[in-house]
Amino acid sequence: MTARLTLAMPSKGRLREPSWSLLEATGSEPLTPGERVLQSTCRNAAIDLLFVRAEDVPEYVQDGVVDCGITGLDLVEERNLEVDVLLELGFGRCSLQAAVASDDPATSLADLDGRRIATSHPRLAAQLLADRGIEATLVRVAGSVEIAPQLGLADAIIDLVSTGSTLRTNGLRSLGVLFESQAVLVGQRTDKAMESRETLTTLLGSVIRARASRYLMMNVATSNLDAVTALLPSAGAPTVMALATPGVVAVHALVPAAEVWSLLPKLQSRGASAILTMPVERLLP
Ligand code: AMP
Repeated sequence: MTARLTLAMPSKGRLREPSWSLLEATGSEPLTPGERVLQSTCRNAAIDLLFVRAEDVPEYVQDGVVDCGITGLDLVEERNLEVDVLLELGFGRCSLQAAVASDDPATSLADLDGRRIATSHPRLAAQLLADRGIEATLVRVAGSVEIAPQLGLADAIIDLVSTGSTLRTNGLRSLGVLFESQAVLVGQRTDKAMESRETLTTLLGSVIRARASRYLMMNVATSNLDAVTALLPSAGAPTVMALATPGVVAVHALVPAAEVWSLLPKLQSRGASAILTMPVERLLP
């Protein structure tokens, strides 16, 4: 019998919903916990769930309380614990950026040398600044980092940014990106061969790959077939099937979701018709 796997999930915050929907999309059928309940399980998979704060997930994994967990890469790096990053999950994307007040004379990261910087990521920020040869005084704050310059607590901040609107709203200007983050699956260093962990990693990976792909179907006159298929991304040869109408074939292919926007009009202009795309649920290479 396969050993049960315990998975720590973010109990709140911005990683909670997307973590849950990713786990659901694997087909494991996680059972919604009741109010204030911190544990649950999955109907179709040997997985037990523990709901904890995203920032505590690396600790729970390192200490063996759970086998795996979902959290932000920035939090993994900040905690600097003994865990392995098993998979990038493709959501919770953000970057750790340095910013100053719009009227500050600084124009580059190097101008932070000798200045006071507020951050909720002091360990990671110290390492990233040291990597760039910048010496600064870091002031640790737990939240609302972006108001520190206004309050006179610091000259600059190092904080997570996704759209940049919070920086703008607070009259701040970015000096550059120090670190790119996204949600990740982490596992214990010692558990590498655990079968249920490999299954979880494979199925989460299949959903992430599927989300980035679309199944494309279209009809093409055989005289246009070469011109149309030449437009398709090279990975995975398209399937070409005969239709009841002579001289016309159906072409099916897997295409990157990000390319659909530019690809469809080109396919149409080269003679493809009845073009449709469908979402893909899971994709194993
Ligand atoms: P929480 O504080 O629980 O909402 O989760 C914060 C985590 O969400 C961070 O550690 C990042 O990994 C991720 N995240 C994604 N975008 C942002 C953002 N714009 N600001 C802060 N955290 C973000």
